[in-house]
Amino acid sequence: MQFEEKKIEELKNILSQRKNVAIIPHKDPDGDAVGACMAWTELLYNKGFEVNVVSPTYVPANLRWMNGYKYVTIFEENKELAAKILNDADLFLFLDFNNISRTGTMSELLKNFNKKPSILIDHHPETEKNIADIIFSDISVSSTCELCYEIFTKAGFHITVDIAESLFAGIITDTGKLSYSSSHPEVYRVVGDLIAKGINKEKIYNEIYENTKLDSLRLIGHSLRNKLVVLEDAPVAFISLCKKELYTYNFKSGDTEDLVNIPLTIKGIVVSALFSQKKNGLVKISLRSKGNIPINEFAKNNFNGGGHFNAAGGEIYDTLENVIEIFKIKIKDFLIKYKQ
Ligand code: 5GP
Ligand code: MN
Repeated sequence: MQFEEKKIEELKNILSQRKNVAIIPHKDPDGDAVGACMAWTELLYNKGFEVNVVSPTYVPANLRWMNGYKYVTIFEENKELAAKILNDADLFLFLDFNNISRTGTMSELLKNFNKKPSILIDHHPETEKNIADIIFSDISVSSTCELCYEIFTKAGFHITVDIAESLFAGIITDTGKLSYSSSHPEVYRVVGDLIAKGINKEKIYNEIYENTKLDSLRLIGHSLRNKLVVLEDAPVAFISLCKKELYTYNFKSGDTEDLVNIPLTIKGIVVSALFSQKKNGLVKISLRSKGNIPINEFAKNNFNGGGHFNAAGGEIYDTLENVIEIFKIKIKDFLIKYKQ
């Protein structure tokens, strides 16, 4: 692990002087972001803190089983309450993001409080300068939850079964159920420790992966049957979904979480993309790559985005048709650079 003992002491020190914490994940929070928020909620609650989580947007239904969900306020749905919580807090804890812009429209509100003491724990590259007073950032770990486990252990914080379950949820969702080639041996050791704490693995897999709505399964079916495009002159596949299609299948954030990974299972395909048309002309782009292709660089250069080496995303205000055209041209150029 990259961080020193000194930073753990700083963390303990700042916690000893505070009592009201606001925990903040990135917008469209995934299993890792929610798992880390729930683990910290439980830990700080047990230490006697007043704890609130303010999520910029909706938490997917398959992540709401975690103990601590009752302390979550959704900024998008209740801006007044979110503002009050942020105002009352004496410490912010930013989890699983590297730039305030990743909190979406909530970043405007957060700017009003940029003098509050803050801690950031994350595993994305290119951390925004001065984003927090104490920064734990390690891009070598599988997930923010793995990093939180290391911090809790080094700090001597007691990890209850509930905390262990939330951390496990974050690790399995950020590693493709522990399948990614980038997962290093340490992550399996951490998972072993969490299992030894008595977590109910079967319940967690069931809650996260066997909780699909019929509509969302049909949307995946529609996407694969009717919308999957494989380029003839490059090892690239993509799916695009317009507003109307998403509406027809009653889309909610999280419903297409794994969809972008499916085209990567086609033999020979090394880049997969999913384009989803949101409100107000915004198109959300999800990107995945295999091997030596830094898809985060591609997301940054073309779609105002970023992320991890093999899993990244971005957003752009444009028509779906234009986004697809830009993608088709740029990805071919990009792959030439990487000799694919
Ligand atoms: P997903 O495709 O699952 O939405 O996102 C995969 C990863 O890409 C996320 O873990 C996050 O690191 C990154 N990512 C997704 N959307 C954006 C975005 O709009 N901006 C940035 N900077 N990163 C993103
Ligand atoms: Mn993560």
